[in-house]
Amino acid sequence: MEKELISKVKKNVKIQEIIAHYIPLNKSGKNFKCICPFHTDHEPSMIINPDKQLYKCFVCNGGGDVYNFVMNYENIPFIEAYQKVVEIGGLSDEYLRGLQKRKVYEPYSENEKAIHALNEKISRYMEYHVMQNIDGSFEYLSSRGLSEQTVKQFRFGYLPDANKLIEFLKANKYTNEELLKSNFFILNKNNSIYCPFEKRITIPIHDSRNKLVGFGARRFVDEKQKAKYINSTESEIFHKSEVLFNYYQALNEVYKTKEIYLVEGYMDAIMLSDKGIHNVVAVMGTALTEQHIQLLNGIKNIKVHVCFDMDTAGKEATLRAFKLLSKSNIQHDAVWYEQAKDPAELLQKNGSLDTISWFEFFLNYQLERYGDLSCNESAINDLLYEWQNVESPIMRNHYFKMISDKTGLDLSVLKEQVDYIKQKEKIPYQNRNKSKGNDLASLLKNKQRIFSHE
Ligand SMILES: [Zn+2]
Repeated sequence: MEKELISKVKKNVKIQEIIAHYIPLNKSGKNFKCICPFHTDHEPSMIINPDKQLYKCFVCNGGGDVYNFVMNYENIPFIEAYQKVVEIGGLSDEYLRGLQKRKVYEPYSENEKAIHALNEKISRYMEYHVMQNIDGSFEYLSSRGLSEQTVKQFRFGYLPDANKLIEFLKANKYTNEELLKSNFFILNKNNSIYCPFEKRITIPIHDSRNKLVGFGARRFVDEKQKAKYINSTESEIFHKSEVLFNYYQALNEVYKTKEIYLVEGYMDAIMLSDKGIHNVVAVMGTALTEQHIQLLNGIKNIKVHVCFDMDTAGKEATLRAFKLLSKSNIQHDAVWYEQAKDPAELLQKNGSLDTISWFEFFLNYQLERYGDLSCNESAINDLLYEWQNVESPIMRNHYFKMISDKTGLDLSVLKEQVDYIKQKEKIPYQNRNKSKGNDLASLLKNKQRIFSHE
């Protein structure tokens, strides 16, 4: 590659903007500071100097230019880092001439950028009403236990009168067509614009790059409104299966702790954050998806604590999440609780969110489902199949004893059972998993059938 091109790209991008695509930055005089992603950092140790176009960590001594950062962060060779810098920096494709055209990073289209900007405008308009306590909206949020800081941080909003917002946006030169693109407004049968978010408390939803892509909302003034919670409908910029609520905002704390709490809904995430757990993200009424996993996998050495609801659906969603997480080699465990209605209440009662291993979770689940397991051969076999997948000898030993403790079956009996199955099957467990589909996923499929009347 031409040296000239490499230095030209470096000159034409801002290092702080490239790094800010990965980690939230704070301004610090002429420089920027952030949590260093290259060691377990507890306070911002990395300084970014925009004049020199360099970054430097004063703890682990990592440092260099924008290319070094992207290479180290993504663990990719120079040529790919160069492409990413060009694309994240929004430089023209001219700089990629002669390179393999492989989009590593999809820049936003002009249309997408316009919708982001409109959403921002709408959000700020609604935030103002909460801060003015219109219709008691701020008081209402306080009464639900949210601090003023949380209300501001999550940018709660309230829309008393949609027509006034429409007037305001039209005064800002927006056309009907443009308004409809945001999915914040809907076209009525009689061709007039209608807003489903009117008289609701709203929460902006951001994508993994911190762009405002949609809104969630809760019924507030008008109890006659049908749905208690609504979300923006899927649009060209908003795909629920790709969004982890609070992902970008959580990153700072995630880099400090290397841990992330995964909850079911945005209110769970907000409530936990209000109580001091900031490394929390939420799936939004969907199961955990491969796209979510990609986001989690983008953080090195992360451990995911699954904190879904403790009803049957939540427990089964937890087991499915385990399956996806373990497939991607992401460390994981989960909460198991009885005396609270959600993770926030659990945190309030216990002062912490204690987790148990994925194996213990599965064991508890089997015990709850079948009661006494000591004579339930198929349930015991299910446990032994999962146990067989545990690689660490120490954990195998630990879980084996756990099965014995919780079922009351002697260790020697369990060992005999393992031998007995092996002999009977004449194939190893892991193969059996594959050949007969006797893994968690297919077990769950059967369970879904069992529970389908619910
Ligand atoms: Zn460092």
